[in-house]
Amino acid sequence: MQNFVYHNPTKLIFGRDQLIRLKTEIVKYGTKILLVYGGGSIKKNGLYNKITQLLTEMNADIFELSGVEPNPRLSTVHKGIAICKQENIEFILAVGGGSVIDCTKAIAVGAKYDGDVWDIITRKNTTADALPFGVVLTIAATGSEMNPSSVITNWETQEKYGWSLNPFTFPKFSVLEPENTVTVPKDQTIYGIVDMMSHVFEQYFHQTPNTLLQDRMCEAVLKTVIETAPKLVKDLENLDLRETILYSGTIALNGILAMGARGDWATHNIEHAVSAVYDIPHGGGLAILHPNWMLHVLDENVKKFKQLAIRVFNVNPTGKEDREIAIEGIEKLRVFWTSIGAPESLAHYGIDDSKLDVMADKAMARGEYGIYKKLNREDTLAILKMSL
Ligand code: NAP
Ligand code: FE
Repeated sequence: MQNFVYHNPTKLIFGRDQLIRLKTEIVKYGTKILLVYGGGSIKKNGLYNKITQLLTEMNADIFELSGVEPNPRLSTVHKGIAICKQENIEFILAVGGGSVIDCTKAIAVGAKYDGDVWDIITRKNTTADALPFGVVLTIAATGSEMNPSSVITNWETQEKYGWSLNPFTFPKFSVLEPENTVTVPKDQTIYGIVDMMSHVFEQYFHQTPNTLLQDRMCEAVLKTVIETAPKLVKDLENLDLRETILYSGTIALNGILAMGARGDWATHNIEHAVSAVYDIPHGGGLAILHPNWMLHVLDENVKKFKQLAIRVFNVNPTGKEDREIAIEGIEKLRVFWTSIGAPESLAHYGIDDSKLDVMADKAMARGEYGIYKKLNREDTLAILKMSL
């Protein structure tokens, strides 16, 4: 294991009928509030009304930024920052999924920064302040509700980067009511499931020895999701299943699984390059890329893939070579994802080989990447070609 310090300051408020707690949480920070949300799902399912009523009861001044797009854009972040600066906003409330939360993180930092927040996102500059913000989560997927990460797309330059500003980009609190996720449509439910499993894989594959407990914890999350997901996609309004998946998504990326070992994150890097060019759903991109990354890096440490195959995908090892067992596990993952309705090739999104170089350049923008195996441009192109 590597040495580690674990500190997660986000207050997690999980369970049914918890929204009422918003008032006591927000009042600590002020009454001038910017409400940030997406394309309107919260208006359709009634959550918007419930939240504005609670805010009105606490005599809040409510300002709004709506229309945050999936794969949130820098231009939307700029709009939010302008409102915060003009109206002296004291607290931001993000109501939505990873896109709304990630956008809010950038607004919170930009609101307290004199230059362009893109400089912070691209690590050209840094700062040490942000507006406080909280979250009402509406979709199980990213873990952004309890981690400091954010992913922002600059559509003009077709760049999409993950960044964080610890501890300022941790939400002060996150309210997770399973009932707020029952209206998530089937395709987005599937993308969220793929994303959380992909987060576990990114942390499971590393080169740090002696991570027995971490491995078992990752495997527990994967097995729970694999057991629950097929039932949920057939029964989208089942609150117990929604609850399990919601909790799994948070545990998958709130730092608990990453203690003591630095994870790989190469597949997320490649997916960001693909969706910067083609604006495809994050979970869809990961379902296509992750099994191919696995096949590409397999020989770095076949034993870890063998462990995954046997423990998580129930591959019978009798009479088989390690490599054969490992590959069978990876194929079982691909079959699992397609069985719940995830895509398996970039062709699904109409992506052909015409921009492979552009995507590879973007994946390489911060140099070689990955921990399990350091990937260069050739590796990147190989994985993209396998994914066509
Ligand atoms: P999302 O992009 O926030 O939302 C996807 C879609 O689901 C939107 O169209 C949204 O509609 C809809 N939706 C959300 N909740 C709903 C509900 N309760 N009922 C009906 N529809 C609902 O999805 P996400 O997967 O959570 O976030 C994806 C983004 O997060 C990507 O940009 C990805 O790169 C990033 N990401 C971040 C992290 C991190 O740690 N920060 C990790 C992985 C990925 P509306 O817009 O109408 O609400
Ligand atoms: Fe992700």
